[in-house]
Amino acid sequence: MDRVDIAVIGAGAAGLMAAISAARRAPGSRVVAFDGAPRLGAKILIAGGGRCNVTHDVVTPEDFNGANRNQIAKVLRSFDVDATVQFFRDIGVTLKREEGGKLFPVTDQARTVLDALLHAAARSGAGVQGGFRVESLRREGDRFVVASRDATVQAGAVVLATGGRSVPKTGSDGFGYELARAMGHSVRPTFPALVPLLLVSGHWLTALRGISVAAELRVVSASGRVLHRERESLLFAHFGLTGPVALDISRHWIAAHRDDPAAGLIMNVLGNDFATAEQLFRADPAKSGATVRGVLRGRFPDRLADALALEAAGVDPETPLVRLTRDGRRALAHALTELPLPVTGDRGFAVAEVTAGGVPLDELRLATMESRVTPRLHLCGEILDVDGRIGGYNFQWAWASGRLAGDGAARGVEPSNQS
Ligand SMILES: Cc1cc2nc3c(=O)[nH]c(=O)nc-3n(C[C@H](O)[C@H](O)[C@H](O)COP(=O)(O)OP(=O)(O)OC[C@H]3O[C@@H](n4cnc5c(N)ncnc54)[C@H](O)[C@@H]3O)c2cc1C
Repeated sequence: MDRVDIAVIGAGAAGLMAAISAARRAPGSRVVAFDGAPRLGAKILIAGGGRCNVTHDVVTPEDFNGANRNQIAKVLRSFDVDATVQFFRDIGVTLKREEGGKLFPVTDQARTVLDALLHAAARSGAGVQGGFRVESLRREGDRFVVASRDATVQAGAVVLATGGRSVPKTGSDGFGYELARAMGHSVRPTFPALVPLLLVSGHWLTALRGISVAAELRVVSASGRVLHRERESLLFAHFGLTGPVALDISRHWIAAHRDDPAAGLIMNVLGNDFATAEQLFRADPAKSGATVRGVLRGRFPDRLADALALEAAGVDPETPLVRLTRDGRRALAHALTELPLPVTGDRGFAVAEVTAGGVPLDELRLATMESRVTPRLHLCGEILDVDGRIGGYNFQWAWASGRLAGDGAARGVEPSNQS
């Protein structure tokens, strides 16, 4: 049976960072990251539309959901954005800031990020072994036994970095949760996050595919209480809603809807309140020829403008403002500021960018990400009950938690390479 000092299970973003950190901290020790995917780093390669949004220039605990904010803050503080930028610069990846604060490699190629991480792992002395899907993990005395279908490895410490369930064809198929359970951990119910939302089939909004608009989306309870709101860009698609605001609100809608099937999603495309919206449609004696279409087309793409009038408000867009009834005005204001969206579900883990739920942070010592249940087992990345907004936050979580886990696993390791 092969022996290693530290076995990292999963060589994605968090696992590679953990392996590099462990090998740097415990030179001479045997650190190996094992990954079951047919292709290493597949998720890094598809991230950010193939450009890999490595982090964001401002990352706060409020950008995350799941665990409590103090716990998240503790991990983020240990390896902040400056440290991330410096880390990547040191391994040969210069990052650039784009409008909105997202940081990408200057090459605009996710491949640059993956190659640099793999080179850094090799330089640090960490091994990365593909084609090794861990099927069982158990303790034998003071060591771990990590087994794939055809090989078994003994390890002094283990870092579990198997990710979540999103895009399972990349290798992150959720089996890591079983490994965590086998080590005595609980797993909070998982569900897709950063996932496009489905609308009732054939709904008029689906005919607006390709149109993008700034919008506020809010999740409301059955009684109308606002549970969460987001304002960003919304993109209509043939199946429903996508774009940053739909992705960011998705986990909140899914969580609310799970608890209360009457929870809804409301759209405001005006960025103003109902009374202001109503005001827009009051006839101005100085502009006698003004029409509903004129008001709407000045603010929204033409097809959206006409659909808001006709489909959402039931008002002919050609209607002159002077002939608009009070009811018509109110229907238009309603369409612009509080339009209920008939969401039927989400597109699922096949396309979700992250997984909400997972192993609770309460079960870890956050200074080292070590399990409170199984000593010398460390966990990091998306397997944990933390999911971030769109914009580089999920990778920042992977880098920070991966570094803590790798460093933590390296403490207490007595190199076995002489044995
Ligand atoms: C389409 C898409 C685009 C994204 N874009 C961005 C972005 O631009 N910026 C951003 O911040 N986030 C982005 N994300 C999210 C980000 O990719 C993840 O949050 C991040 O990769 C999580 O890192 P991780 O290492 O915890 O898990 P993963 O990257 O999922 O890695 C887990 C690894 O473990 C391996 N594994 C799983 N089970 C086993 C097993 N039993 N045995 C051995 N190996 C196993 C898998 O093969 C995988 O390689 C995107 C996600 C998707 C799906």
